Amino acid sequence: MTTHQLDLLENAIDSLAEALLKYEAGEDGDAKAYKFAVLHMAHFIELIFKHHIADKHPLLIYKDPFSPKVDKNKTITLWDAINFINNESSGTISTGLRTDLDWLKRLRNEIEHHKFTMQVPDVRTTIGRLFRSVLEFLEEHTELDIEALVPAPALATFKVLSDEYAFQLNDALREADEYERANPFDHKDPDARPSRLTCDNCGNETMIQDESSSSGYKCLFCDNEDGDNLPANCDICGVSTTQGELDAWCIDDDEGRYEMRCYYCSGRYHADKDD
Ligand SMILES: [Zn+2]
Ligand SMILES: [Zn+2]
Repeated sequence: MTTHQLDLLENAIDSLAEALLKYEAGEDGDAKAYKFAVLHMAHFIELIFKHHIADKHPLLIYKDPFSPKVDKNKTITLWDAINFINNESSGTISTGLRTDLDWLKRLRNEIEHHKFTMQVPDVRTTIGRLFRSVLEFLEEHTELDIEALVPAPALATFKVLSDEYAFQLNDALREADEYERANPFDHKDPDARPSRLTCDNCGNETMIQDESSSSGYKCLFCDNEDGDNLPANCDICGVSTTQGELDAWCIDDDEGRYEMRCYYCSGRYHADKDD
């Protein structure tokens, strides 16, 4: 690699580290920090694509590499780089990635011209998706191992942002935290149900109360609505227990309904006693 290419890569990684740290600050409650995350991320993407082009030939980084005297002040733009990549092999930059890159360009312009009203959820989701698409591109078309280059303080955020599963789980946990804070468990109320539980299906602490669910709970991560640990009442005597402690009894009618019975009402108590 030439010095210029090394500079490009180094600056790209610096911008990425800044973007990740600002993103983290945003997640920690400083909403304005997302704005800087967007700017740094846009810069990272521009530089890393330029680096990819310069890697093909160092002169390709300049606007007119065929002129008798190359003007080294005029370098290509991100869109030149994107067009080059697609001219080389059409469809390499997918329509989806282009749309997200357009979004980023627009947002960056708005921020730079102070016309920017940020929809934080959109920014979070789109930045995450865009970042993953760019990483995917780099993985498929370059030898770069970005993760290995990310400085330690930004690595945790890199991992969340680069992995869709981790990203969505992180979101679900944040939402569950908020719900729990807004609906603390009332220890004085004997009928109080915990606001948050561990999901039996995915194992995450992302099960919160949800009126639309037949069990009264729904997992924010996997949408599961059931679990042995969910509070439930016996349909016969009304005792408060958990779903796992209840037995389903078919009611002998044509609709195939069933009721949930506790240890005593199901007759298990008597059966166990007789053994
Ligand atoms: Zn779940
Ligand atoms: Zn009962």
